[in-house]
Amino acid sequence: MIDLHSHSTASDGSFSPEEIAELGRTFALMALTDHDTCEGARRFLSASGRIGAAGVRWAGVELSVAPDPGYRKFHMLGLGVDPDSPRLNALLDAVVAGRDERNLVILERLRALGAPIELQDAERFADGRVVARPHFARALVARGYATSISDAFARFIGNDAPAYAQRYRPSPEQAIEAVHAAGGLAVLAHPRYWTCDPAALRSGLRKLKDFGLDGVEAIYQSNAPGETVDHLMAAKELGLLVTAGSDFHGTNKPGLHLGMEPHDEAALVAALLSAHDRHASPSDMV
Ligand code: AMP
Ligand code: ZN
Ligand code: FE
Ligand code: FE
Repeated sequence: MIDLHSHSTASDGSFSPEEIAELGRTFALMALTDHDTCEGARRFLSASGRIGAAGVRWAGVELSVAPDPGYRKFHMLGLGVDPDSPRLNALLDAVVAGRDERNLVILERLRALGAPIELQDAERFADGRVVARPHFARALVARGYATSISDAFARFIGNDAPAYAQRYRPSPEQAIEAVHAAGGLAVLAHPRYWTCDPAALRSGLRKLKDFGLDGVEAIYQSNAPGETVDHLMAAKELGLLVTAGSDFHGTNKPGLHLGMEPHDEAALVAALLSAHDRHASPSDMV
């Protein structure tokens, strides 16, 4: 079993980094990839050491990147990063600052819409400095302005809802550069949300490969079987690594479970580990 995409309470998952370490204790390879922070990944690594986890454990991060026109949600995974990398942390600081600005806009819009919650109402549900929309959703439910998380997204803070506000996102070049500076592998997360056009997938990946992209999350728990096959083929055509991830968020995203079982798990893990070794001469580390 492996898993290169999971979230803890340090971003918008429901389990602590220590609980995630315990849930994946027997996995051959695993990364915690919280949105915009390595705080949880640091705790995940030490907890994994403490409990004698099997295999290899990586610190990771998931960055929201600005997509080119014609593409939708663009998420980049940094896998096997040094959580103390100054370059990566400078980027994360800029992203979190952008989040904080955006959160104030959301609060203003909620107030105008007759759902006047306070920032503290959302912060109460966050375990670190990343205050994300799921925390706003829970605050709206707790204050009685929404009947459920999905109601909160549908009527208030979903991408097409009136209190939604955009936030600062780095360019793909900036994200890849920061991940590489931190000694990590840069991987396109869940390609199905980026584009569902096989030709656009390939041309987009070719461009990203020129920027230094290392791999594609071809094996993704929410994929339809045909998508996995197409993404595996695209990775092969372009000479990109393949990763497998669940995008586990605990009870905050029901229906997903931690752990993936790719049929060629040993080969996949070996390819990732040797690519990561080759990468590990980051400009940032002594
Ligand atoms: P943010 O990073 O603050 O923009 O929040 C994004 C997170 O909100 C995603 O990772 C999802 O977990 C969650 N999310 C976005 N849209 C929805 C939705 N319609 N229903 C439930 N959760 C959502
Ligand atoms: Zn998330
Ligand atoms: Fe994502
Ligand atoms: Fe994710």
